[in-house]
Amino acid sequence: MALSTKSLPVIVIAGRPNVGKSTLFNRLAGRRYAIVNDQPGVTRDRKSVDIELRYRNVTLVDTAGWEEDDPQTVFGRMRQSSESAVASADVVIFCVDARSGINPVDEHFAQWLRKQGKHIILAVNKAEGNAGNIAALEMYSFGLGEPYPVSAEHGNGIGDLIEAVLDCLPNEEENDEFEDFENENVDRPLKLAIVGRPNAGKSTLVNQLLGEQRVITGPEAGLTRDSISVFLRDEEGEVELVDTAGLRRKARIDETLEKMSVSASLEALKMAEVVVLVIDAELGVHEQDLQIARLIEREGRCCVLALNKWDILEDREAVRQAIKDRIEISLTQMNGIAVVSFSALTGRGIHKLLPAVRRAYAIWNKRVPTGALNRWFEEAITRHSPPMVEGRRLKIRYITQIKARPPTFVLFGTRTSKIPMDYQRYLVNGLRATFDMPGTPIRLQFRDSK
Ligand code: GDP
Ligand code: GDP
Repeated sequence: MALSTKSLPVIVIAGRPNVGKSTLFNRLAGRRYAIVNDQPGVTRDRKSVDIELRYRNVTLVDTAGWEEDDPQTVFGRMRQSSESAVASADVVIFCVDARSGINPVDEHFAQWLRKQGKHIILAVNKAEGNAGNIAALEMYSFGLGEPYPVSAEHGNGIGDLIEAVLDCLPNEEENDEFEDFENENVDRPLKLAIVGRPNAGKSTLVNQLLGEQRVITGPEAGLTRDSISVFLRDEEGEVELVDTAGLRRKARIDETLEKMSVSASLEALKMAEVVVLVIDAELGVHEQDLQIARLIEREGRCCVLALNKWDILEDREAVRQAIKDRIEISLTQMNGIAVVSFSALTGRGIHKLLPAVRRAYAIWNKRVPTGALNRWFEEAITRHSPPMVEGRRLKIRYITQIKARPPTFVLFGTRTSKIPMDYQRYLVNGLRATFDMPGTPIRLQFRDSK
């Protein structure tokens, strides 16, 4: 999913030159993105970047790009340079300078801004130290509500400012049920699919989990296309087993049976967050198992590997290792995948499954703190810099996590489309190891920042 395909809420930073808009922009974007100038006379382009602000994807716009030449014309220019940006804004951060106090240009601009019918958050910048708070109080006189004292340079007050900005944003679009889930409905049951080849023991597993024969009773295979869910509960809450109807879909002849196990799995896993891939441990890993595992990865779901029929195995450790190796070698994205072994028939070992599912789910939902991510990134590209391609070194400047489920990172740089797969793998492996994200797909996206 490209960032730009969705129209994100727009946050515009406006204000006089030199109050610290670019510094604030950089602070919010998490890295030095705009160019900060000491002299107000240096022209800059208007900067716009899609960033993640507390798990919300937003477009941040800095309205720099004009020169403070003649004080008489400052307001006019300010308005001119901000007008179209403000028109597109969901929220305007009006930035003023605590050190210089209220300035007639600010007042004039505030008046104009109030008429634009936008949410306005008043950021009083350069407010580090006590003097800043006093200055902030004075700024109530703008009539723009509560002033937020911040120091863009040092980071003070930024959390409260972000909170205030996010409070003004419209609710997130409902079209992505997972993002929606993440932000609003934490109590919704975890959606779990149980997939695998025919006779791996899926139905037996579900029955064992439910403690009763609920799955195989019901309409005959093929009679219904409804996907039936059943619910389980553990100490941590509810788990919805999606598409248990899929478990009953049995084909008539062997050939289609195999094909069906893959396509039925695909249907089920699209509805799921976590997928348990059941493997008949006695038979080991088949091509279909790998095909299903690839689908799980492709769809960005997280996966737990369930080795069933443990009761009839002799050399258990060897089998476990062989199966895990086979999956990981075929699918590097499954590196570190959780493996649980049990007997669905006797129920032995089955208690390990849901905790493993919960753990995998937590990893899949992981948010890497921005500071730690940037530190890792600096180190990773220093240790092993992006390669030369066509005689020129590729540049990656900046990384940000735009979403979880699965963890997805955007890297900004130049000629990023040329970054070779092995370098991408290097980054993915580093992210996985450093931030403890085994077994979950990790996505990288690249964008050219200029
Ligand atoms: P803009 O022209 O409004 O975009 O402002 P800049 O971001 O270029 O910043 C103007 C000057 O103010 C630079 O010298 C910054 O280093 C400085 N500055 C920005 N934020 C702060 C802050 O929080 N405290 C202090 N003391 N200086 C700041
Ligand atoms: P499904 O097609 O994946 O739903 O598989 P079933 O649950 O219908 O199981 C297929 C066969 O494997 C049945 O005969 C089950 O009794 C048997 N089976 C399932 N789990 C186990 C197990 O843990 N141990 C043993 N020995 N047999 C099992």
